[in-house]
Amino acid sequence: MSWDFCTDPAFQEQLDWMNGFVRSEIWPLEAVWHDLGLEGLRRAIAPLQEEVKARGLWATHLPPELGGQGMGQVRLGLMHEILGTSPIAPLAFGNAAPDSGNSEILALAGTPEQKDRWLHPLLAGDLRSAFSMTEPHTPGSDPTQLATRAVRDGEDWVIDGRKWFTSNGSIADFLIVMAVTNPDARPSQRASMFILPAGTPGVEILRDVPTMEHPWEQYGGYGGHSEIVYDGVRVGQEALLGAEGAGFMLAQERLGPGRIHHCMRWLGVARRAFDMMCERATYRHAHGSLLADKQTVQNWIADSAAEMQAARLMTLHAAWVMDTQGARAARTDIALIKFYGARVLHDVVDRALQLHGSLGYSTDLPLEQMYRFARAARIYDGPDEVHRQSVARHILGAYQPPADGVPSEHLPTRRQEARERFAHLLEAVTADD
Ligand SMILES: Cc1cc2nc3c(=O)[nH]c(=O)nc-3n(C[C@H](O)[C@H](O)[C@H](O)COP(=O)(O)OP(=O)(O)OC[C@H]3O[C@@H](n4cnc5c(N)ncnc54)[C@H](O)[C@@H]3O)c2cc1C
Repeated sequence: MSWDFCTDPAFQEQLDWMNGFVRSEIWPLEAVWHDLGLEGLRRAIAPLQEEVKARGLWATHLPPELGGQGMGQVRLGLMHEILGTSPIAPLAFGNAAPDSGNSEILALAGTPEQKDRWLHPLLAGDLRSAFSMTEPHTPGSDPTQLATRAVRDGEDWVIDGRKWFTSNGSIADFLIVMAVTNPDARPSQRASMFILPAGTPGVEILRDVPTMEHPWEQYGGYGGHSEIVYDGVRVGQEALLGAEGAGFMLAQERLGPGRIHHCMRWLGVARRAFDMMCERATYRHAHGSLLADKQTVQNWIADSAAEMQAARLMTLHAAWVMDTQGARAARTDIALIKFYGARVLHDVVDRALQLHGSLGYSTDLPLEQMYRFARAARIYDGPDEVHRQSVARHILGAYQPPADGVPSEHLPTRRQEARERFAHLLEAVTADD
């Protein structure tokens, strides 16, 4: 098994181009994108999207058999590290969540008609989508408890339920809804996915839930998290996405690569916060010295560098396992990076914010926005605790209780065994005495 930390020169050239492009063309938009509104932002990024397409870097996330470029997760990860530096960059590159994950499901499980109607325009950037699974009254961390039901009625399905935190639900052209189709099946086979075009009768988008990221009530904004009632929504068989009962399996397929991309994007954010922290240390003078000369600050800088490096190597390793051994083999590695990466992002941003004092807390710097973003990372795509639990269970599966309850490393027991095994040597030592 070879280990290689190099990036091939041709791809490195693409990464270098992306780095320059994102910094020079996309970072400046950040200062005005809320003033531009959704339409204004679309107009602003349209020419950038053309440049990305011309460079062959548009919507690169799909594997070749599904119409993508076969980048593999390691390369995609390196790209997402650059895209993560700006919340707008994924839009310019055609792989913003949740559209990127939804296009993967459509590519994997869609019928030819569904691909024509939804996937191709989604990949072209002409449509927006949302993924509607989490419910206010059941635990999202245990989706086997989903309450939303889809019941057969003749040739149709009738969907009833309430969802929330459906990201981009209020601006989506279609929703992918997870609903229980067979409550008596094994937990992993109870749910199915349905595609609902926006405006389907019975779909009522109540609000975009105000959050730490958008504390004010807004409706129809990019990145809003919608609360939606599905009230007797009637759809035909053509709405079913994938096989009946395959909902959870498809969701897992969607989440694996998505978590790698999230973690690499978080590293892009963390790196930007880290750069701000280091810059601040070089000019702020307090209590007789620069902040850079204080040991606490040096510790923060060194700890942050070490943690980001660890998270980066762990994430690229998970991507490499996925590329070389498949998604199933990478499951524990992905669970590890999901909670570890979210923690590193949080801690680095927190230290950078702290080092800027009231400036860090103010909206004069992007650190407070990064902090709110970082807090959510510990919850979505599975809260930290669930990933820790899954990692610990996997690890513990390789352990057995010791014979007779005596720990394997119990020294008195080992000493006794060693005395018997090495009795001849011990006797010789005693005789020499
Ligand atoms: C910014 C953002 C965007 C989102 N986008 C979407 C989206 O597009 N579509 C969608 O369907 N959902 C989305 N979600 C919802 C998200 O997936 C859920 O919030 C998440 O799965 C957790 O579910 P829950 O909120 O119901 O929390 P719960 O399941 O109620 O869990 C609450 C807490 O209980 C604890 N807990 C749970 N299980 C365990 C355990 N086994 N051991 C120890 N502690 C445990 C954890 O601390 C956890 O945070 C989004 C959420 C956020 C914050």
